[in-house]
Amino acid sequence: MEKTTQMYEGKAKKVFATDDPNLCIVSYKDDATAFNGLKKGTILGKRAVNNRVTNFLMKMLESKGIPTHFVEELSDRETVVKKVTIIPLEVIVRNIAAGSLSKRLGLEEGVVMKRPVIEYSYKNDDLGDPMVNEYHILAMEYCTKEELDLIASYALKINEILTEYLKGVNIELVDFKLEFGKTADGQIVLADEISPDTCRFWDTSTHEKLDKDRFRRDLGGVEGAYQEVYKRLLGD
Ligand code: ADP
Ligand code: UDP
Repeated sequence: MEKTTQMYEGKAKKVFATDDPNLCIVSYKDDATAFNGLKKGTILGKRAVNNRVTNFLMKMLESKGIPTHFVEELSDRETVVKKVTIIPLEVIVRNIAAGSLSKRLGLEEGVVMKRPVIEYSYKNDDLGDPMVNEYHILAMEYCTKEELDLIASYALKINEILTEYLKGVNIELVDFKLEFGKTADGQIVLADEISPDTCRFWDTSTHEKLDKDRFRRDLGGVEGAYQEVYKRLLGD
């Protein structure tokens, strides 16, 4: 597997084309941003944590029937994935109120939702990823109704699987963001990453934050929190 040209450089990863038109290589970075790029910094060791945690969780999800883009881990920071056309949606699932949901609905952080909540944002940095609903998505043709129904059912299934699994390592899954893509043969698969950058993880016993909120809110102990998630999932 040979890297050819760089297709894209994002805030947290680079994506490279390869000599196989159906595969690409993602390369994780230690760069961290928050508030739509307004806050910038570095989280040392983040790339290895996010790469390995993402791959570990995607393999686990595959084993339970969720199709993903994962193909092969190449190193600490690089992974071969199926090349997909990303559906331009951030699919957010929430179990416990936090972040923008707390603000929007006036809920104290930590309030347990009576049932999981799915939200969608249109992936567009210039617009600040605005929240959209099913009607916007279908009217704008970001995907079809059939695709959206499948995405929502995968998102809820992923939530069940991850919540249960993380409970076993004393982590509460507060909320998280998923991205889905379409392969060359039209299959919808889970893409992008599942990591402390894209999920809120709280220690079940102490409710200590083990995710990017430590960076967003200047809580300190950012690197340690990322390493702790790695350790609980993959060992030392
Ligand atoms: P951002 O674009 O928000 O700055 P990243 O730095 O994580 O985010 O960039 C990674 C980019 O790669 C994202 O735009 C993501 O949608 C895209 N991506 C993730 N998985 C795949 C894949 N399998 N094929 C093609 N693109 C992907
Ligand atoms: N999230 C993400 N990328 C985004 C926006 C949100 O990974 O561009 C994740 C975030 O880490 C959290 C969940 O989605 O786990 C819900 O985020 P929220 O809407 O509360 O926004 P935030 O507080 O991150 O601005």
